[in-house]
Amino acid sequence: MSILAVLEQRTSDGTPEWNRMSWETLSATQQIARELNQPASAAVLGQGIGALGKDLAGKQLEKAYVVEHELLRQYTPDAYSAALRQLVGHVKPSLVFFPHTYQVRDFLPKLATSLGRIAVSDVVSHRADGGKAILVRQLFQGKVNADVRFATEAPNFASLQAGAYRADQVIEGSAAVEMFAPSLSASDIRTKPLDLFREAQRAVDLGAAELIVSVGRGIKEADQIPLVQKLADALGAELAASRPICDAGWLPMERQVGSSGQTVAPKMYMAVGISGAIQHLVGMKGSRIIVAINKDANAPIFEVADYGIVGDLFQIVPELIDAIQKSK
Ligand SMILES: Cc1cc2nc3c(=O)[nH]c(=O)nc-3n(C[C@H](O)[C@H](O)[C@H](O)COP(=O)(O)OP(=O)(O)OC[C@H]3O[C@@H](n4cnc5c(N)ncnc54)[C@H](O)[C@@H]3O)c2cc1C
Repeated sequence: MSILAVLEQRTSDGTPEWNRMSWETLSATQQIARELNQPASAAVLGQGIGALGKDLAGKQLEKAYVVEHELLRQYTPDAYSAALRQLVGHVKPSLVFFPHTYQVRDFLPKLATSLGRIAVSDVVSHRADGGKAILVRQLFQGKVNADVRFATEAPNFASLQAGAYRADQVIEGSAAVEMFAPSLSASDIRTKPLDLFREAQRAVDLGAAELIVSVGRGIKEADQIPLVQKLADALGAELAASRPICDAGWLPMERQVGSSGQTVAPKMYMAVGISGAIQHLVGMKGSRIIVAINKDANAPIFEVADYGIVGDLFQIVPELIDAIQKSK
């Protein structure tokens, strides 16, 4: 028995690129496999993805499966679930982990159901208990943590929430690469993918940002947002916001962090005038370093902050900008 990570790539202009969350899933898989005393393997699907197989060959894995077929060139739920069903039949893993991406949300329930299993989604942590994995997922907007144990025979499936595991903890090593050619037929694929598009011209991918400065209702009015933008610019960070800021139209929705916005895991997340409601925390608590500026010393944001500044943001932010500029 082994534990298999199914990683995600996207091919645009003929060049396949890893989804950053793939490395979080790989690191989790290595960690859980070690704790359960099972080997870890990884798989990637697509066409013309040999270079990605080479990346995996440099990781500490028993096997790296490169699942290639022309019908996997563009993502479809039918082709992905059929190919993975065959791969799972071949590898016979005990557990299969996926990043909790939109694509995985699309095909994983179909894959699991077709094998008579359920998929546990949005896992935030785990622990090993008697050689079995107990997975933790959040309920009621993060107010309750639920322990989940699989009662079904292997293989069992789970997707891991962005930011729950550290991508920089993937263990390097070596893996034997195995090419796996699934048997797929065009007549089994019921959807026809069109060209990829971005919803908005200015779409930002906060998930890829290394530094984020995020503004909340403490900023008081739209006219003050440029102050926090200036801080973000000084740091070379993306600007994000809590929900009320986006609901008010002060910043576009694509910049909202939280349960109904984006989930982010930058190297540093600076929360400026954000209280730290649970719906906000679930979207950013996976950040490596959290800095909070809030005038209320009892604001819940300080419970997750590594560094906290209690004070008036209108005094602190200009001083910070000044200090950053002087240090350059
Ligand atoms: C179903 C649902 C989904 C939701 N999804 C999201 C989501 O995705 N993202 C999200 O963010 N929220 C979400 N919310 C809303 C969430 O519950 C909170 O209402 C919201 O996060 C609060 O935003 P805030 O911290 O900016 O504002 P507030 O809670 O009003 O906090 C403002 C903070 O600023 C501080 N402050 C005020 N003045 C200053 C000053 N001069 N200097 C320094 N600090 C100051 C205050 O002490 C306070 O802590 C959701 C709610 C629901 C019900």
